[in-house]
Amino acid sequence: MCQTILDGERRLSSDRLPASAGGATKTFSPRSIYRHLDGYVVGQESAKRTLSVAVYNHYKRIDNKGRLADVEVGKSNVMLIGPTGCGKTLLAQTLAKLLDVPFCIADATALTEAGYVGEDVETILSRLIQASDGDVPRAQRGIVYIDEIDKISRKSGANPSITRDVSGEGVQQALLKIIEGNVVYVPPHGGRKHPQGEMIQIDTTDILFICGGAFEGLTEILQERMGLRRHISLPGAAVPKNAAELSGTLMHHVTPDDLMRYGLIPELVGRLPVVVGLDPLNHKGLMDVLTRPRNAIVKQYQRMLTLDNVELVFTDDALQAVADLTLAQQTGARGLRAIIERTLMNVMYEVPSRRDVRKVIVDGSSVRGEAAPKMYDYTGRILGVELDQAA
Ligand code: ADP
Repeated sequence: MCQTILDGERRLSSDRLPASAGGATKTFSPRSIYRHLDGYVVGQESAKRTLSVAVYNHYKRIDNKGRLADVEVGKSNVMLIGPTGCGKTLLAQTLAKLLDVPFCIADATALTEAGYVGEDVETILSRLIQASDGDVPRAQRGIVYIDEIDKISRKSGANPSITRDVSGEGVQQALLKIIEGNVVYVPPHGGRKHPQGEMIQIDTTDILFICGGAFEGLTEILQERMGLRRHISLPGAAVPKNAAELSGTLMHHVTPDDLMRYGLIPELVGRLPVVVGLDPLNHKGLMDVLTRPRNAIVKQYQRMLTLDNVELVFTDDALQAVADLTLAQQTGARGLRAIIERTLMNVMYEVPSRRDVRKVIVDGSSVRGEAAPKMYDYTGRILGVELDQAA
């Protein structure tokens, strides 16, 4: 296992551990993991580097248990801190694909303590087992991404619910049980535990947990601890242009203490020893997300239209406009796809039933909804809707 690699990345095996090491670490090195992440994730340099090392060490520890019997090497679960749509889930997902291990995403806000209305923490493990097609030993080496971990902090008022324990502490305690490494009994198909129901036993010791959250308000805790006033830069760092940039800079300095002050219980913080700050994507970052990654959104739509023999071109002005609109929504890169989808809706509706269209050019005005994308035939003649009616 752990040999299936995306996009023919087998060459990555050149710089790695001695042959005696087994499994994933036989195939990968931190450097090769980083290179792979770099192909899919824009920016986030420190997160890519830190994760490469953490994930490599995680599987090295598992694959060399016999040789490490004399020292108990602790598990390095990871905490990713950064705003919505900056690539936290993407990083975890890309890692799992590269390593060919089962992966699942859980939303911490949907979880409840046993006895309350909502999802038991154990459902996360049921999902992981489903992701590995019922192969429990394989699931035991999987990766779980727990999103919105900040929303179950003791002080979080973001998700008040009378059906859940008000503080979120109960959910943190429940999560702790699976994150720290225990044998847990879970219902095979998810759902609630049933006293007479069939149960599957799963050991979570070797499951890698990656937690993520935006941690709104953490900036203030950091500023206070560091004795900084608003909009004042860190020594040696460039003066941040705005609050988002300041927050991004500060997030690289988060300590376990800050997370406890935010409202995470010390035991949970202790089980997430690798803490990484991610930067908000700025205008340039959003434009890069559109075009740079191997499976960049623009490339995906271009590829789709080549199936209809149509060349799709986005002008630079169009990419700028998409980034402008997305920035205004404050949802990070999450909003990009919806804007492109909306811009291309009519094109994608028309093109498959027309044989005359060879090229479509999208410019800023089409992104802003001021004009339709321009369609051309093979001679370069601009096509209009009336031609569609004639066709
Ligand atoms: P979050 O930080 O909220 O978990 P996601 O990872 O889910 O954000 O990002 C949503 C989508 O936005 C991704 O599927 C990807 O298409 C795009 N995206 C976000 N950040 C990046 C990034 N740094 N590089 C490339 N794509 C990104």
